[in-house]
Parts: sequence; structure tokens; C-alpha cells
Amino acid sequence: MQIKRLRLSGFKSFVEPADLRIEPGLTGVVGPNGCGKSNLLEALRWAMGENSAKSMRGSGMEDVIFAGTSRRPQRDFAEVSILAEEVGGTDGDEVEIVRRIERGAGSAYRINGRDVRAKDVALLFADAATGAHSPALVSQGRISAVISAKPEQRRQMLEEAAGIAGLHVRRRDAEQRLRATETNLARLDEIIADQD
Ligand code: ATP
Repeated sequence: MQIKRLRLSGFKSFVEPADLRIEPGLTGVVGPNGCGKSNLLEALRWAMGENSAKSMRGSGMEDVIFAGTSRRPQRDFAEVSILAEEVGGTDGDEVEIVRRIERGAGSAYRINGRDVRAKDVALLFADAATGAHSPALVSQGRISAVISAKPEQRRQMLEEAAGIAGLHVRRRDAEQRLRATETNLARLDEIIADQD
């Protein structure tokens, strides 16, 4: 997967719509302390489905919405879009993933303009061996967290890097469907036995 553009609007300090184009090669973001460099990486993780407000440095998810300043009122929504290409299973076409949060209404996701579930977005990125918890996204404090991680946590990182993390979700879904089918079959057996 190649991420080509990150677009933010009303997200944390990015009150006005802002585009970060990611060209082939190395892209650097420089600026004084507190100008919003970490917010960019957080925007990327958030649009990939991050659901921990704490890891977004907030106490609730609505804290990602521009909170206002003495000169500007707060915003009612935040939106982040990721434009990517070479996403597995999409034939090399560009894919736009959008996450939007509105005060009091929670988050909504779209892939290429179509409403989807958070799970669909997580699976899209997991299949491309990336996602909100990808070891490729190295935020502050992450290195020491990796060093002190327990073996099970390291295994999760390896599974994400190998692109197989999405299989756990699919396995759970398949097991649920299997259980529902078994219940239906048992019910059917009872009905047939009643008719004999
Ligand atoms: P450093 O170099 O010190 O790590 P940085 O460039 O990474 O800084 P960030 O941590 O990304 O900066 O940005 C912090 C800024 O974002 C702060 O000025 C903070 O007030 C602002 N900010 C965070 N959340 C919001 C919000 N919801 N509304 C408005 N501004 C916010």
C-alpha cells in the first residue's frame, strides 16, 4: 500500500482543511514544538480506525475535534481522509478512506464514498499489513513500549507486519456463523422429530 495524501479538516490543531502530499521517497515534516507534527501521525492512525482516545492523547474521542481558541470557535466535526493506492484486492486503483466524527454522533467511515463499518476499514488495512497499530507508525514512546512488550504483544506486532491480523476477525465471524447454523440444524432436527 502506498499512501499518497492525508487530508485533515477540523482535526486537532488543523482547523482549516489541510493536505499533506506524500510523494515517492522521503517526506519530512518540520516545525517548532507544538505546531502539530505528532497530530499528523495521529490523524493517519485515527483514519485507520484507532479507537483508543488515550492513544490520541485525549480523554474521549471527541477531543480530536478542534476545540477552539480565544479567537476561533470550536468545530462540530473532524474529518480525515487517506488517499492510497496499491491496496490489496483493489486492482491498483486509488482508494479513499474517510473517517468523520461529529459531536454527539460518533464516528462514521467511508471507502470511496460508500458508507462502511469500522471493521471494514480495519480489515482493509490489516490485509495490506498495516493499520492503526502497525509497527511502521512509530510515535513517541513506542520504541520503549516495544522493548518492554510481553511475548503475546510482540506476536501481535509480527502478525500485523505479516498481514494476517485480519484473519482473527474473519475467524471469529466464521465461528459465529457456524454456531448460528448449528443452532438452526438442531432446531430443524427437533421439528422433524416432532413430525415423526
Ligand atoms: P513536539 O515537537 O513538541 O512533539 P508537535 O509539533 O508534535 O510538538 P503536536 O503534539 O502534534 O505538536 O500538537 C500539539 C498542538 O495541538 C498543541 O498546540 C495543542 O493545543 C493542539 N491541539 C491538540 N488537540 C487539539 C484540539 N482538539 N483543538 C485544538 N488544538 C489542539
